[in-house]
Amino acid sequence: MLYFIVSSSPFPKNMPRHIVCLTFDFDTQSGFIARGMTSPTALSRGEFGLTGARRILALLKSRRLRSTWFIPGFTIESHPGACTAVIEEGHEVAHHSWAHVPPASQTRAEEEADLVRANAAIERLSGRKARGYRSPSWDLSDSTIDLLLAHGFLYDSSLMGADYWPYPARRGDRAELGKPFIPGQETALIEMPISWSLDDFPHFEFVRTTSAVLPGLQSARAVMQNWLDEFHYMKKTVDWGVLTYTMHPYVIGRGYRMLAFEDLLDKLTAEDAVFMTMEDAAREAQEHMGKGEAC
Ligand SMILES: [Zn+2]
Repeated sequence: MLYFIVSSSPFPKNMPRHIVCLTFDFDTQSGFIARGMTSPTALSRGEFGLTGARRILALLKSRRLRSTWFIPGFTIESHPGACTAVIEEGHEVAHHSWAHVPPASQTRAEEEADLVRANAAIERLSGRKARGYRSPSWDLSDSTIDLLLAHGFLYDSSLMGADYWPYPARRGDRAELGKPFIPGQETALIEMPISWSLDDFPHFEFVRTTSAVLPGLQSARAVMQNWLDEFHYMKKTVDWGVLTYTMHPYVIGRGYRMLAFEDLLDKLTAEDAVFMTMEDAAREAQEHMGKGEAC
């Protein structure tokens, strides 16, 4: 766990800075296809993400807010116009695999091939390779951190080891049944932590499979109040921090959720939240780390 000593911060003392990263995983149909859900209705759930994306982009434009979009190569090649709109509005495009298959289920060679293919799609779309990565379904393999470093990434956003403090991602953690946990070596890759509690999907999506039902469909206002309270707690406990919300256009893009999300943005703005792309927030975190402010 990291704790930043504010007195030696590059920002003036007594000037708290509470950063919010709005992140959108623009999966469209990719997650359904990766799970073998290719019936017309399943695919149409993902297709609704195109409508959701238009609404989100309009809302962010009206508030002059920049955000980060984790876009699978599948979405870039299937819906190029929708992805071009993200770029044209000035948002960051980051890596979210090509086919939305979790790395933990792939061989190293499969994972690297998918990583390279998706990065090529991002480069064609945006003119540069991704600086940031978020794994499909938030499940890294033992190879992921090394692959991200080898391919020049600045940050990952798939782990849950902290809430408001970015931290160095580790390679080679050792966890064996019946033995103490041995942390691996810290790397230069910056981890921008996430949480299922700050992800729209489990709160809102109704999913029925042969073995389980995820009920979802919670009150949007109640979930947004939880998300606002998370920001309040960050303000109460740290003078510098980053809070990351994870959303999916096909989830948050429904009307009553958009209204609640709009209210959340207004309340965060009134409380002096600093909205940043994740790349910019990671670079600011890197400044703190480089000054030895982490312990
Ligand atoms: Zn996703």
